[in-house]
Amino acid sequence: MHNLESMISSKLPNTGTTIFSVMSALANEYNAINLSQGFPGFAVSEELIGLVNKYMRQGFNQYAPMPGILLLREALAAKINNLYRCTYDPESEITITSGATQALFTAIMCCINQGDEAIIFDPAYDSYAPAVKLAGGEPIHITLAPPDFSIDWSLLKKKINARTKLIIINTPGNPSTKVFMQADYEALIELVKDTNIIIISDEVYEHIAFPPYKHICIAQFEELKKRAFLIYSFGKTFHATGWKMGYVLALPC
Ligand code: PMP
Repeated sequence: MHNLESMISSKLPNTGTTIFSVMSALANEYNAINLSQGFPGFAVSEELIGLVNKYMRQGFNQYAPMPGILLLREALAAKINNLYRCTYDPESEITITSGATQALFTAIMCCINQGDEAIIFDPAYDSYAPAVKLAGGEPIHITLAPPDFSIDWSLLKKKINARTKLIIINTPGNPSTKVFMQADYEALIELVKDTNIIIISDEVYEHIAFPPYKHICIAQFEELKKRAFLIYSFGKTFHATGWKMGYVLALPC
């Protein structure tokens, strides 16, 4: 009798248990403070819980339209405009997802075809590389070195070739804490401006940047906005990581 494991030929045979699971289990076992995963140490707002409860009781429990409820997408368009002066059309350029992880996975699946390369800055959120591989692509790793985890732009330039399809950035970065500044974006523009390279900008920690740093959204640069998927997470913003809700902004093809 075969078991399921012997019947399945893994597409990612070398992907072990994620470091988040390993460290969270250890933190539980030793009753240690869990610094390994983005668990906020404070409660979800009572008002938010009350509102979710209210709308559930009013019957809002069935399938939403595919891209998400328009009212929510409109609120997000207003938010992105208020914070960053960037315009996205709620009808066609904003999609609600099951957390940022699904947004990342879907965006990566859209962009990467067999043999494409995707540049990932290490240390990185560990869902990027497996998604690239599942899509048939090859992750190209560039290590960011402490203490400032700055990007070696000349190394990045050397890694770019005709197969480079995607660059994944994460600002503010987890776990590096690297925050993209004006100069980083300018360097990025210079690198990609005459290419068809797409950028996935993981901005789930947009609200966790402390002075003198502040979050600059990739869509504040037209040259980058037109080629970018922007990824956000309500889990992070409202410290409700178990709710797994996020959204993605991107201009239509
Ligand atoms: N991106 C980064 C950089 C993260 O750290 C995390 C969560 N650890 C996510 C995305 C995933 O967010 P979500 O829980 O909304 O899937």
